[in-house]
Amino acid sequence: MKKIVIAIDGHSSCGKSTFAKSIAKKLGYVFVDTGAMYRAVTLYALKNNMFVNNELNTSLLESSLVNVDVDFSFDTAKQQSLVFLNGVNVESEIRGIEVSNFVSVVSQNALVREYLVGLQQKMGAKKGLVMDGRDIGTTVFPDAELKIYMTASVKVRAERRYLELTLKGDKVSLEEIKENIESRDFQDQNRAISPLRKASDAIMLDNSDMTVEQQMEWVMTKIDVILNS
Ligand code: C5P
Repeated sequence: MKKIVIAIDGHSSCGKSTFAKSIAKKLGYVFVDTGAMYRAVTLYALKNNMFVNNELNTSLLESSLVNVDVDFSFDTAKQQSLVFLNGVNVESEIRGIEVSNFVSVVSQNALVREYLVGLQQKMGAKKGLVMDGRDIGTTVFPDAELKIYMTASVKVRAERRYLELTLKGDKVSLEEIKENIESRDFQDQNRAISPLRKASDAIMLDNSDMTVEQQMEWVMTKIDVILNS
């Protein structure tokens, strides 16, 4: 059976990773959450005091990138892909509101993007990959066999994220999450390098009123056509 690359881009918190993960599981493909990679670099910058008065010391981060190792490991017990920063599991830490508030600044940096895009392209060299992010269909894998551009209303996205974070015990308000989502949408769409855009050949998926099962049914029909062509 031929193997393909599936690129999933779209707005923050619209369920891209959950969707990508389910597709990868169904097909036996590798799943890569590229947002986790930008979050891990952001955590590194925060931990190493690279933000002064909320301003990123870009030259310091750029010169430190050689010391930043971002990797994934699959936890078979939890059936979950975990992100490691310099050998330490940071899966939980990178999802908090602090990293969420600083990640869009870090992801605007050209050298950070060049570094992470290089790693991502290596991960897809053998195909059989589902990758989600903001620039996968436009920059990382412009030749991906299937490209999906996902979105959902801000209200639905904020409510989903609120539930996820409060279930984990994070103290955060719905309003704070809504502001973070709107601000990240704006920054991701308006940055100079690799802004969030729908690739011209991407298929749009608004999942505001769809269950994960409905989304899976929708996407598997598309995948079957490609795999059997
Ligand atoms: O997907 P997630 O919301 O975890 O991504 C966190 C942030 O990382 C995004 O808001 C965006 O700024 C950045 N990002 C990016 N390019 C990607 C994936 C994520 O710029 N491919």
